Amino acid sequence: MPYANTLDLLREAEKGGYAVPAINIVDPLTIAAIVRAADEVGSPVILQTSVKTVKSAGADVLVTAAKVAAENASVGVALHLDHCPDREVISLCVEKGWSSVLFDASDRNLETARRETAEVVKECHAAGVTVESEIENILGVEDGVGSDEATHAYTVDQLIEVAKETGTDMLAPALGTAHGQYKSDPVLQPDRVTEIRDKYDIPVVLHGGTGLTDAQFHEFIDNGVSKINISTALKHAYMKSALAYLKDCEANDKWEPVKLFAEIEKASEQVMRDYAKIFRSEGKAAK
Ligand SMILES: [Zn+2]
Repeated sequence: MPYANTLDLLREAEKGGYAVPAINIVDPLTIAAIVRAADEVGSPVILQTSVKTVKSAGADVLVTAAKVAAENASVGVALHLDHCPDREVISLCVEKGWSSVLFDASDRNLETARRETAEVVKECHAAGVTVESEIENILGVEDGVGSDEATHAYTVDQLIEVAKETGTDMLAPALGTAHGQYKSDPVLQPDRVTEIRDKYDIPVVLHGGTGLTDAQFHEFIDNGVSKINISTALKHAYMKSALAYLKDCEANDKWEPVKLFAEIEKASEQVMRDYAKIFRSEGKAAK
């Protein structure tokens, strides 16, 4: 299936009552593994890159790996730039062929966020790239972006006004979740999704998904969330599978990188399979 646009995948998900897993990949190995598992379970998938990953692996390597994986799969695969406050990195990814970007303006005041989001939307739309917008800060720090303190919070009416005015395609509001691992139980706001979607027909994205229960995910999906971001779970699967294998290598004094890659791929595939089941996206892409 050809490489997909993120917005198209979300509109299908809204109709089908599921959410598309949006997994933060870190390299070509995890791109291949996540798409292979998505294909196997028949789920659309959004591959996400943090700004840090774009800088570490390189935009050309990532977009090439994503497009090759998409062409060889029978499910929709999109490539999305996660949390990016840096306009230069947005322009780079737009030019290189990402499907969509999250312009993270949550560190700006409302007036600046509004003006710059409109500029980003204009630039992206001219290239056929769709835009997720974040002007409230979702708690937690992810790959060096974000804050542990709520500095910008707005009413639903303000969020909708800015979304309409800027022409943004997808909305990432604060919903009580946080990035990273939860230190205490979060106070979730699934009703906020209903309120937004009752007032304005825009896809809503849930961040900070790792660590929520299945029931919590289902409530968000039932209320209209169509994209759920998963980052921490893949990081853990990647590093812990590598660690277990490396301990074996050390114990046996046998060192084989290709087998290490296989272990990481296996663990990454399982992350995709698990979330496709929870988010009800498995079997939803035409095989
Ligand atoms: Zn996020």
